[in-house]
Amino acid sequence: MKEPLLRVAHLRKYYPFTRGVLFTRMIGEVKAVDDISFTIDAGRTLGLVGESGCGKTTTSKLILDLEQPTGGQVLLDGRPIHAVRDYRALVQAVFQDPWSSLNPRMTAGRIIAESLIVAGWSRAKIAARVSELLEHVGLRPEQATQYPHEFSGGQRQRIALAGALASRPRLIVLDEPVSALDVSIRAQMMNLLKDIQAQDDVAYLLVAHDLATVRYMADDIVVMYLGRIVEHAPTRALFDDVRHPYTKALLSAVLPPRVAGGEDEIVLTGEIPSPLDPPPGCRFHTRCPFVMRRCTHEEPMLREAAPGHLVACHLEG
Ligand code: SF4
Repeated sequence: MKEPLLRVAHLRKYYPFTRGVLFTRMIGEVKAVDDISFTIDAGRTLGLVGESGCGKTTTSKLILDLEQPTGGQVLLDGRPIHAVRDYRALVQAVFQDPWSSLNPRMTAGRIIAESLIVAGWSRAKIAARVSELLEHVGLRPEQATQYPHEFSGGQRQRIALAGALASRPRLIVLDEPVSALDVSIRAQMMNLLKDIQAQDDVAYLLVAHDLATVRYMADDIVVMYLGRIVEHAPTRALFDDVRHPYTKALLSAVLPPRVAGGEDEIVLTGEIPSPLDPPPGCRFHTRCPFVMRRCTHEEPMLREAAPGHLVACHLEG
């Protein structure tokens, strides 16, 4: 069987929680990511969704090699990421707010050229590649001399994308890539991302809380709650046949009742529990309207409820 581009295998990230004057007394661990597994194929998009604190940002940091895992592995083309030459060039990121990710003292051209300079490219080759990338993201080559404040929000995000594409990555982590943009230009940016994916065969890990964006962009969706995956399915299957009560609640919050599941609609109440002290059994049981006795002490495993559709809930048997 063909090895996927990216494999996340039993990945865990626990942060020690300390107290005391010198913060040396460990009183517990925050299980930000707790034994998650998924794959992404070349040229495909996986959406990673959940409320803040669910572990999606930590997952993307582990994939970007910005954090070291407590356990488990991230593999690119079947090899552990530290054995992959130029991993940092092959896996890039575009963040939510281009204001904070673009250096205001650098021209757009210099920002885009950053990784090429590090890689030792010649001036002439860099200039040609920067012009090509500006056109690739719908800007003009002469705009290379302008500074970030001279661009609109959507144009700044295009510059961030051009910078990410400079090193010809195989995977880009898109962390809320359109949520800081005006609603009127979100569709343009999403279409641009799709066009670039079709041309460059690049894969995306799309981290977002906005399910409309994820539905439009992603081929498959992973839903996380308190560090665990609760549902994982192809996008169409997830929206047509949503299974996990938490995913239903997320959909109920954004879609009209008819689409969200009619009488099945679930309104989430209460805060997400602390990851330092997650509830025993099913971690969602303190907020789930279908909670049963078993849910309070027995953690449901992720199992196939329909072909390719994984769910972690005792309602699935
Ligand atoms: Fe709700 Fe129980 Fe399913 Fe958890 S396992 S989502 S508490 S029904």
